[in-house]
Amino acid sequence: MPIYEFQCQKCNETFTKKMSVNEMEKTKVRCPKCKSQKVKKVITGFYSITSKKS
Ligand SMILES: [Zn+2]
Repeated sequence: MPIYEFQCQKCNETFTKKMSVNEMEKTKVRCPKCKSQKVKKVITGFYSITSKKS
């Protein structure tokens, strides 16, 4: 399951949430601190779970 990072536009709190892509689409993400829905998704980079074991 991917971990998304968000930043609140109101209080600048950054927080992470672990959820599926489906959940992500239907869930309204709120800031845990000020409960604002004005959060912005922060792209933290890609999780490339391509196991390169030879
Ligand atoms: Zn906030």
